[in-house]
Amino acid sequence: QLRQRLESELEDIRGAGTWKSERVIASRQGPHLQLAGGGAGIINFCANNYLGLSSHPEVIRAAVDALEKFGAGLSSVRFICGTQSIHKDLEEKIACFHQREDAILYASCFDANAGIFEALLSPEDAVLSDELNHASIIDGIRLCKANKYRYKHMDMQDLEAKLKEAQKHRLRLVATDGAFSMDGDIAPLREICQLAQKYDALVFIDECHATGFLGPNGRGTDELLGVMDKVTIINSTLGKALGGAAGGYTTGPKPLIDLLRQRSRPYLFSNSLPPAVVGCASKALDLLMESNAIAQSMAAKTQRFRSKMTAAGFTISGKDHPICPVMLGDARLASVMAEDMLKRGIYVIGFSYPVVPKGKARIRVQISAVHSDEDIDRCVEAFTEVGRKHGALP
Ligand code: PLP
Repeated sequence: QLRQRLESELEDIRGAGTWKSERVIASRQGPHLQLAGGGAGIINFCANNYLGLSSHPEVIRAAVDALEKFGAGLSSVRFICGTQSIHKDLEEKIACFHQREDAILYASCFDANAGIFEALLSPEDAVLSDELNHASIIDGIRLCKANKYRYKHMDMQDLEAKLKEAQKHRLRLVATDGAFSMDGDIAPLREICQLAQKYDALVFIDECHATGFLGPNGRGTDELLGVMDKVTIINSTLGKALGGAAGGYTTGPKPLIDLLRQRSRPYLFSNSLPPAVVGCASKALDLLMESNAIAQSMAAKTQRFRSKMTAAGFTISGKDHPICPVMLGDARLASVMAEDMLKRGIYVIGFSYPVVPKGKARIRVQISAVHSDEDIDRCVEAFTEVGRKHGALP
């Protein structure tokens, strides 16, 4: 009976055209991939490997060293016998990188988002969340008992109206992605912080698509927009720009981090981060704190792609962000164009409803510091050819 029910549910997913298949990669993560069962030399434009650190030799070396010195894993949660010196060092490094008082590690940023709202907010409090926030923020908010307000995407009038309504509560927390992963657009943090000040609210940002590369020193959206001293809480991932292995964290005021160590369920009841993963992230942060050359190189390549694609006649959503959504509108067009791009050796993914709103299908291109100018140009050429073939360009 269960098998039948599951089969019918799977059929419904296929029928709705929302089936997600997984392409198998036979090489390391990087700008050039080999796909299992053939496809070599594919140029990859769909990883969150913004700084190209996922296969950086020093990052890999640091992982091997940590594995050898500290073992495969802790077989324990942090507060029983799962804290090693490298966990404390990495937490300190993260806090220093973001110029915050303290930091706490999680197995993922999904866990960091799942663990913060319930630990911090109670039924007397309120949380105000951008309607397009990442699923993990939405789930984290679902788990807490605070009063919930959802404001329209980056709409400051709506946020202000909701903040006025929320004045009756003890504490208000505005929660937003720093950069939104489907559109490559950046939250108006200056305005959000001004409103937060006016209505006595705290600001929380999820920096998964910003940490390591946005802002003059790659600190993130708060640095980019000059509000590092106004954002109270940052959650981010070690699984994208910072080496790409896994892991997430919260950084902010020390008493908050202390409280999370006592109360945050994904932290309390889940195994410690494996040493090799800690080693990767720690080395990635060292590289970024030494120099911002990698981030600058990524910014230059992003600029090259965005300007060449715009000149070719495409509409690219967002601004200056390595997430470059090529807006196509029609879901079928996005899907056939992505398939045709792969035939030309360019790996990109089409997104359509329900992942993005109806009529706003797109192919999302993600630029990395390790793409060469030639890689970028080949991608633009392929888009131009495929776009003409399918009528997306005149
Ligand atoms: N928040 C945002 C905005 C994300 O894009 C992601 C990853 O997709 C996460 C949180 C979850 O991060 P992690 O992969 O570390 O769980």
